[in-house]
Amino acid sequence: MELSPITRVLRRGGRILVVSGAGISVASGLPVYRGLGGLYGDENLPEGIRIEEALSADCMRRDPGLCWKYIRQLVLAGLQAEPNAAHRILAAWQERNPGLVLVTQNVDSLHVRAGSDAIELHGHLRWLDCPSCGRRLRDPDWKTLPPLPRCATCKAVIRPPVVLFDEFLPGKAVSRLQQALAQPFELGLFVGTSALFPYIQEMRDRVRSAGGLAVEINPGDTGLSPGMDLCWREDAAKAFLRLEEEGAAEEARDE
Ligand SMILES: [Zn+2]
Repeated sequence: MELSPITRVLRRGGRILVVSGAGISVASGLPVYRGLGGLYGDENLPEGIRIEEALSADCMRRDPGLCWKYIRQLVLAGLQAEPNAAHRILAAWQERNPGLVLVTQNVDSLHVRAGSDAIELHGHLRWLDCPSCGRRLRDPDWKTLPPLPRCATCKAVIRPPVVLFDEFLPGKAVSRLQQALAQPFELGLFVGTSALFPYIQEMRDRVRSAGGLAVEINPGDTGLSPGMDLCWREDAAKAFLRLEEEGAAEEARDE
């Protein structure tokens, strides 16, 4: 059997960077987000503004009820989602190969729920923080939260640690990523993501300039495709199941 370059690096336990975007969660029933707000098209919201304006720190300051309305819509749309084969297989790879660095743009926590240690560049929704006194509400029940959730201690408006449209990436995640990128990778897998954010292209270029192989797994062409060594046109969950099969067949042959 002809081993794919991905399986070869996996079997060696080589250093691998995996970058995932919304496309990896499609098989879990989540819509492909355009940034944080891809549930929505290009048209304005009923309030006459764009989703990027509603999901911004500026809106959270001026009109927190409006910002919260759309945060809630986003969360409720994905509340039933469960990790799919791609999340589960990646978690198993990472367990076998601690040199695998997983970076995600997703805020859906599906990598973490599958058991991965993921660098969540755009934050997550597993808790709500009070920006005033620092009190943290873990695992909020999104269905029963009031329209404008407030801190039980100081009554300030609380919010999840997600990166809103006009905010910087979280410092801790960025420094973990920078530390990881200081060493070369043999393989970079870009799964269900696009070139929307310039740092994704930078990661691809860094993998290649250090001699690694950059592979895209995506059903369609993206802005990242032209700079890739290989483009695998496949849904993420199906692609990972095939890689898993290929690896298992090799192992059986070795025995
Ligand atoms: Zn507080």
